[in-house]
Amino acid sequence: MDSGLKRELEDKISAGERLSFDDGVALYETDDLMWLGQLAHAKRTELNGDAVYFNVNRHLNMTNVCSASCAYCSFQRKPGEADAYTMRIEEAVRLAEAMAPEGLTELHIVNGLHPTLPWRYYPKSLSELRATLGPNVALKAFTATEIHWFERISGLSADEILDELIDAGLSSLTGGGAEIFDWDIRKQIVDHDTHWEDWSRIHRLAHSKGMKTPATMLYGHIEEPRHRVDHVLRLRELQDETGGFITFIPLRFHNDNNRLSHLPMATGAEALKTFAVSRLLFDNVPHVKCFWVMHGLTTAQLSLNFGVDDLDGSVVEYKITHDADGFGTPDKLTRTDLLDLIRDAGFVPKERNTLYEVIETFDGPDPERRQKPQSIGA
Ligand code: SF4
Repeated sequence: MDSGLKRELEDKISAGERLSFDDGVALYETDDLMWLGQLAHAKRTELNGDAVYFNVNRHLNMTNVCSASCAYCSFQRKPGEADAYTMRIEEAVRLAEAMAPEGLTELHIVNGLHPTLPWRYYPKSLSELRATLGPNVALKAFTATEIHWFERISGLSADEILDELIDAGLSSLTGGGAEIFDWDIRKQIVDHDTHWEDWSRIHRLAHSKGMKTPATMLYGHIEEPRHRVDHVLRLRELQDETGGFITFIPLRFHNDNNRLSHLPMATGAEALKTFAVSRLLFDNVPHVKCFWVMHGLTTAQLSLNFGVDDLDGSVVEYKITHDADGFGTPDKLTRTDLLDLIRDAGFVPKERNTLYEVIETFDGPDPERRQKPQSIGA
């Protein structure tokens, strides 16, 4: 990128002007990662100061049986496969009961599109989970793809489905099922019927009922930067209309046990660029989140200087050494490790709930830790 264009983009951003599609593509073309990081960092600081949010949540997948076979998916199984499973509602409740003493404030529930489970299973699960976990644990459940699937299996409209799920205890939809909205890319990797039209219809409807929802983007597979820009701009336009998106979550594609396993994975630099450009383009979403399990702890920590203000992933009190991705990334962090990770990057950790209301503000950077090599779990 020549210095003239750089100056033009800097001026536009500092004047608070909205970036265009071409601006977004140009930002992806720069090799000056630190320049891009500074621009994104200024925007995240304007919105969130020196806070880095995290919440104590757990993930629950009640079934991995799915009618679809999306090319990037490592999770789905077909009925009868050795490791296919579907929980009885009592099993899901027992699991949730075991998680409750860990101080969680959110249960994140997504499932496969099960071919034969009846619609009643879903509101019944929620109401029993709600009864078990009480009112202080938000049930963030189901992607827009699942809601669209429920329309098909129940004969009800999304409006009726959401009302029933809200009555049963639903706090928020999840942001999944978005992947990449551009049709030329989407038709090659997504194997179900929920595309931009239905995904946006369902989130718009959720927003109209007062719900705040996250939005995701799966990047680093067969898409190009222009498809990421298009994805974010669609969301930005919907956000102008509803104001209902609370956070944006770029998710790095993993080439693990799926039909795209032959592809290489995005590098740390590519991830940082994606966070930074997303922060700059999606100017009306309050938060940008890094799911550290999918990015590794090193990239996650650096992302805090590239537009990210929220680190997501399970936090526990005691160390568990399971390796989430085969590259040494744990699938859970202790609270102390997470606090150190945030402080060592120069930020103030804040535990939040699903709506980003602050539960506790912790001490910021600890100068004593600068006297020796900073490490996680030392
Ligand atoms: S809908 Fe696609 S991404 Fe979701 S579980 Fe099924 S195959 Fe995986």
